[in-house]
Amino acid sequence: MDQPTFSAPDLTTFCHLDTLNLSCVGQQLTEHEALLLCTPTNTDDWCRKCGGHGAPRDTVTRRLAHEPFGHRPTTLHIRLRRYKCLECGHVWRHDTAAAAPARAKISRTGLAWALRALVVDHATVSVIAKKLAVSWHTANDAILAEGHRVLIDDPTRFDGVTVIGVDEHVWRHTQRGDKYVTVIIDLTPVRDKTGPARLLDMIEGRSKAEFKTWLAERSQEWRDGIEVVAMDGFTGFKTAAAEELPTAVEVMDPFHVVKLAGDGLDDVRRRVQQETLDHRGEEG
Ligand SMILES: [Zn+2]
Repeated sequence: MDQPTFSAPDLTTFCHLDTLNLSCVGQQLTEHEALLLCTPTNTDDWCRKCGGHGAPRDTVTRRLAHEPFGHRPTTLHIRLRRYKCLECGHVWRHDTAAAAPARAKISRTGLAWALRALVVDHATVSVIAKKLAVSWHTANDAILAEGHRVLIDDPTRFDGVTVIGVDEHVWRHTQRGDKYVTVIIDLTPVRDKTGPARLLDMIEGRSKAEFKTWLAERSQEWRDGIEVVAMDGFTGFKTAAAEELPTAVEVMDPFHVVKLAGDGLDDVRRRVQQETLDHRGEEG
């Protein structure tokens, strides 16, 4: 077995702060939380308005929830300079978009951790919020937005689709929001025997109007390419498909669709897990 090669202990790399353009310069540890004092590693002292040079004006602190290490939430206290332009008087704050977008409360790696915890480890939002030391709503809003960005906003995911399945699922068991979700899956690989079904989209609710709106949002070219729509017995889906995809054939096969939808979800989960592991491998 290979002997490990050791370097000096370093919180900046251990806590993935280098990927956020931050350097760790201090720590405050208690039994319940870890606070890491950080400073940016990039420079940002040139005026965005006139290109003049800025003089340091004062210092402010940006707090960001970060990925937890062990069971102790980790919070970043980023010490930032504010500058005033010597030419035009414009005042700006050192840009920390590499650590988190403006107004975000969770660091980019903290958010990636949260999304993995939810999708791969099946952790609940309340557990994730507790580990990040943020409110439930802060965690929930950020994870939903990140999930959309990573899993939904893939511009190529609608390419080559000719067979779709539509189905409804009970999504949540709470009072808040719609109880049902309409799941749309790509069955093209199943029909062509090239692979498993893929999850295409999930939309809140289960009405004809929602499915019809979703279909109408696709391009005419995409809709013209759909040959088969598999669905359960809900007549609303059939009517929506007939109106928006007049050339497609509707197939009723509830058991098959339910099973494939489940397989599609499992596949997405596996894919995310695989990508996560691959990513970890690259970092290591
Ligand atoms: Zn200026």
